Amino acid sequence: MGDYETVTYQDAAPGVARVVMNRPEMRNAQNLQMTYDVTAAFDRAIADDAVKVIVLAGADPHFSAGHDLRRSGKSELGKDFPVIGTWGGFSEIAAHGRYAREQEIYLQATRRWRNLSKPTIAEVQGKCIAGGLMLAWAMDLIIASEDASFCDPVVTMGVCGVEWFVHPWELGPRKAKELLFTADFWSAEEARGFGMVNHVVPRADLAAFTLALASRIARMPAFALKLTKEAVNRTLDIQGQQTAIESVFGLHHLCHAHNQEAFGMSIDPAGMPASVKK
Ligand code: ZN
Repeated sequence: MGDYETVTYQDAAPGVARVVMNRPEMRNAQNLQMTYDVTAAFDRAIADDAVKVIVLAGADPHFSAGHDLRRSGKSELGKDFPVIGTWGGFSEIAAHGRYAREQEIYLQATRRWRNLSKPTIAEVQGKCIAGGLMLAWAMDLIIASEDASFCDPVVTMGVCGVEWFVHPWELGPRKAKELLFTADFWSAEEARGFGMVNHVVPRADLAAFTLALASRIARMPAFALKLTKEAVNRTLDIQGQQTAIESVFGLHHLCHAHNQEAFGMSIDPAGMPASVKK
């Protein structure tokens, strides 16, 4: 499967790398392998001076069903996978290990993707759910096909939103509350209205449209692109985005701790996906 177990890397056009999540049978659900494969592919694009723009796509039919919560054979952080954040102690008991693990694979991994020095574009079709939103939101631009739909349903699992809590920034505070309270899907067109999505295009045109936009951006001076991205990201950080994400991560873990005490597992089993219940 290309250069990585769960991801393919394409030199898609001059100056454009295209990273494709490639677990279509699992609707590109993000397991540990994919988390580190995506990171490795992004690092490769950053290290290649010929690459100026990075596209993140998902093999059809869906962009991403979210985090793959099931344990697989390779699950040891720091042994099976290289640590990319600042935490350790992943096998510590109770909240200690859980907090460390989610710091590494959710909070710090997503921050790393968000802070990649080159412009990034998410190319989203089909369903983009929960952890899938974290992948799309970490990118600088989002292009969605008309059939794309989005949802963060984790309140049904007793948790106050996914680990990368930018919902108020992406959806506006009032719609963020409604869509979290209800676990409803929102459409690509609604997402464009919120300012979360840059363009909505027919499904058949999605890849070509995204590549054409990436190619136009790739003709700009590389350093100016990097500093422009940095300028917008710093502005968001000064507005408090980074502090807000870190603060809400603590509330997220209060939910996990409550669920563990109440139900013996970190999410409320009433709302957990059937694939995890097995
Ligand atoms: Zn969590």
